[in-house]
Amino acid sequence: MDMRRLHTTLGEKSQDELGLILPHEHLFVDLGPIEAKSYEKAHTDEVVKIMAPELLKAKSVKVSALVEATPVGVGRRVDIVKAISQAANLPVVVATGIYREPWIPDWAHRAGEEALSDWMLKELSIGIEDTGVKAAWIKLSAGDDGITDAETKLLRAAAKTGQKTNAVIGSHTIKGRVVEKQLDILEAAGYKAERFIWIHTQVEADFALHLAMAEKGAWLEYDAIGSDTFSDRYFIDCILKLIEAGYKEKILLSHDRGWFDPSKPEGGEQKPFDYLSTVFLPALREAGLKEEDIRQLVEHNPFNAYAR
Ligand SMILES: [Zn+2]
Repeated sequence: MDMRRLHTTLGEKSQDELGLILPHEHLFVDLGPIEAKSYEKAHTDEVVKIMAPELLKAKSVKVSALVEATPVGVGRRVDIVKAISQAANLPVVVATGIYREPWIPDWAHRAGEEALSDWMLKELSIGIEDTGVKAAWIKLSAGDDGITDAETKLLRAAAKTGQKTNAVIGSHTIKGRVVEKQLDILEAAGYKAERFIWIHTQVEADFALHLAMAEKGAWLEYDAIGSDTFSDRYFIDCILKLIEAGYKEKILLSHDRGWFDPSKPEGGEQKPFDYLSTVFLPALREAGLKEEDIRQLVEHNPFNAYAR
């Protein structure tokens, strides 16, 4: 029996209770100026009014759960995310962890590896702040040109907590060479590449590095589906080549869309979570993928990545 569960804002879910899962989206992110701390002043009702309809729209195109990928440092508000999720009755998966420099807060700069690991453990096993919601996973990030000392400290803390909880670590990392270094650090700390997600894989132009990281065991997350920067054709080519190479079970697909930004008037402009269901999956079927392959990519893979 599969005892793994996906921890969500609406409680623990088994694979049977879920279908399509979007593994990387946002409901609430503060892109700053971060010193203004607009995220602290946001009104829950105002955000729910704008974002709950987006979740209902996602539900109407068969989305059964959505992963919120906002860590501490860019305005994480799990209380607001929970309220949106409850209003739409759609389970949302949230993260512990901290974004990269210069968004790492002072307290995390001052904290040691052990204290950071304990903080993550508390958010994964007891809950985040007083929301009663447990984080499912650990979100981190690394600089585009390499990992700083503070980022290394966070990564090692995450490795420690990840080993205890089997929580997956996902990192916003733009370059394949930096992911390679992150995996070295994780493996030296006793953590397995199989529980690491390379977020934003698509940005690395060298496909050989996508293959190399899949070979090491990492998840490859193509999370700009429906963006103006990357065409459907680009993603379909990557997916077909990875399936051909035997890595069908390591692919994650999402939009990285949303969201309410409290630094913008009325939360800025939202983009819906529907492109994958309505445009991209039909294109994948047309490219020859069978229904069971598609279910592997958008149902089983995200559950396998985030459940523990
Ligand atoms: Zn994102």
